[in-house]
Amino acid sequence: MNALSNDPPVVRTTCPYCGVGCGVLASPDGQGGAMISGDPDHPSNFGRLCSKGSALDETLGLDKRLLYPMVRQPNGKMARTDWSTALDKVSDGLRTIIAREGPDAVAFYLSGQLLTEDYYIANKLMKGFIGTANVDTNSRLCMSSSVAGHKRAFGADTVPGVYADLDQADLIVLVGSNAAWCHPVLFQRIMANKRERGAKLVVIDPRRTMTAQEADLFLPIAPGMDSVLFAGLLAYLADTHTIDFGYIAAHTVDFEAALERCRSLAPDIAQISKTTGIDAADIIRFYELFAGTPNAVTCYSQGVNQSAQGTDKVNAIINCHLATGRIGKAGMGPFSLTGQPNAMGGREVGGLANQLAAHMGFSPLDVDRVRRFWNAPRMAEREGHKAVQMFDAINRGEIKALWVMATNPAVSLPNAGLVRDALRKLELLIVSENVLVNDTVMTGAHILLPAAAWGEKSGTVTNSERRISRQRAFLPLPGEAKPDWWIIAQAAKRLGYGKAFNYETAADIFREHAALSAYENDGSRDFDIGAYADIDSADFDTMTPFQWPRAAGRAPGETRFFASGDFFTADGKARFVAPETPALHFAADAEFSFTLNTGRVRDQWHTMTRTGLSPRLASHLPEPFVEVHPDDAREHHLVDHGFARVTTRYGSCVLKVHVTDNQRRGSLFAPIHWHGTNASSACIGELVNPATDPLSGQPESKATPASIQRVDYR
Ligand code: SF4
Repeated sequence: MNALSNDPPVVRTTCPYCGVGCGVLASPDGQGGAMISGDPDHPSNFGRLCSKGSALDETLGLDKRLLYPMVRQPNGKMARTDWSTALDKVSDGLRTIIAREGPDAVAFYLSGQLLTEDYYIANKLMKGFIGTANVDTNSRLCMSSSVAGHKRAFGADTVPGVYADLDQADLIVLVGSNAAWCHPVLFQRIMANKRERGAKLVVIDPRRTMTAQEADLFLPIAPGMDSVLFAGLLAYLADTHTIDFGYIAAHTVDFEAALERCRSLAPDIAQISKTTGIDAADIIRFYELFAGTPNAVTCYSQGVNQSAQGTDKVNAIINCHLATGRIGKAGMGPFSLTGQPNAMGGREVGGLANQLAAHMGFSPLDVDRVRRFWNAPRMAEREGHKAVQMFDAINRGEIKALWVMATNPAVSLPNAGLVRDALRKLELLIVSENVLVNDTVMTGAHILLPAAAWGEKSGTVTNSERRISRQRAFLPLPGEAKPDWWIIAQAAKRLGYGKAFNYETAADIFREHAALSAYENDGSRDFDIGAYADIDSADFDTMTPFQWPRAAGRAPGETRFFASGDFFTADGKARFVAPETPALHFAADAEFSFTLNTGRVRDQWHTMTRTGLSPRLASHLPEPFVEVHPDDAREHHLVDHGFARVTTRYGSCVLKVHVTDNQRRGSLFAPIHWHGTNASSACIGELVNPATDPLSGQPESKATPASIQRVDYR
């Protein structure tokens, strides 16, 4: 239901932060605020909220909001204007550049914060009507290695399992995931299983995080060496006859080749221990636990994905589940945890430059199918630039116009200094935003468009277990702010595509999205929500959370994929993948002898435009810092709560020093949240290696060679 009661009204919506996708009850107070609580009926959280979700009430004010359109004047200053003038400038600017340079000279950079409906029509405009696939998203930094790994193994970007598997598993392996801080409500479910059913928890991470401190077995792995550990596991499973030969023969191909490669990468326990830095006895314990526990779930997150070899790591994990047939059944399977609230929704609508809508790619068949469905005049026929390459293309002068929606690439992309150079070179930079002050806006936007924020906009999001939930407005639109889908549709109309973008509500767009997912889908494509293709606005308003697939004419049933062992490849069989030899993109050397790891803290989100407003959240870790092992601190004369300059090939910044033996020797950790407009100098994105995985395009955000020097302020 939408409104649970009328006095006071209580609105069901979904948390705007992580990919757990918790249901939220919001009771507006009539003065721009609201009381917030967890939705006890939402199947992702059953009423639980973490610290960030609980503090949403502190983030609802209009402080620093962008409330009306603004356009840069000839004197360089931004000035308020009306929507009509701003949208005319958007369409005139795009039209002029496209006419002069062609469609590949323009690009959109989107966000996992957008709602599915916003994402859908941005992609439709660019890929079907402007005629280029230069549309990418900050979700590229979040889970694109999992997308590529799923496609290699399963033939489609399909998450096999569901959250209930975490309640039913007897062994949960978390790889590169500080779930206690980054997916806290899921971690609560894992801990409940541990407490109530005795499930075992193994955590594989270079840092002894809060998650690792709760583990039955913690494996402090050397940065980047995950594939070796899982290659060794595959070989161990084969050697101990724990593999399921019947499943492998019936439902997979390429096992022998993958096993042979894995044996060469991980010839024996001593070698695995040497490469991974993990104690040999602990490696054997892990292998025995995995081999002896059929109900095993392996969750992985940014520690696996954010790597120049992220796709190989994903496949090395999936290999072990395929070899044991532990996939698609209750309490077992590989499970990618998405970072953002709508990273999964973006995948559904083709939010990545290498996808078309409804999980289609750029095969001639898919291009033709989408072209006909949209009646598209200029259909993109090949992939566009992925995130990092998009900004490289701007720096080379190939892209002249960029529209950034709901994200802050001047801070969040690797080598952010070069990204800022790129933004300054643009002939036309359009930014749709909630806030007036962010680093991308400050880098020289020509047109600012005020977008509705969480609590003001309506549509859908999809979480890590493929569950589609409604975000609902419970506050009025402030100032002249508008929903993102409305802004894009207005620009499309001015570009001459009014008939194809004639939407009145988000429900109109959702219906079309659902219809496309079912269009000529004979079951050979994974994403299908055709049951919603005819949904009316009243039903959209009262929609309850549901998981895909939900094809028309089929009752909701099993929500796990691959239970029968049929995959989305041409022959219906899953693929084993032989991983390459793991290596960091740059090895540490005499000048940069440390490895810089980056990530989140418990109570902040991305570049803090929302969480930074909450005093409660700020009190947890109030300032930027770098974590250093005590022995490294001693060697480099660093003191706890003193200052140090961290330097990489790309940039440097001064951070508060936290000395902790939770950190590996030779490794540093710094959070991503602080930056120019909310801290004096720190911007970790400026320091991060922009090298990317050749398949997924995901950057190596977890392992940049770095140096550290003490700084004394007198
Ligand atoms: Fe929001 Fe994630 Fe916390 Fe749930 S776990 S309340 S979705 S931040």
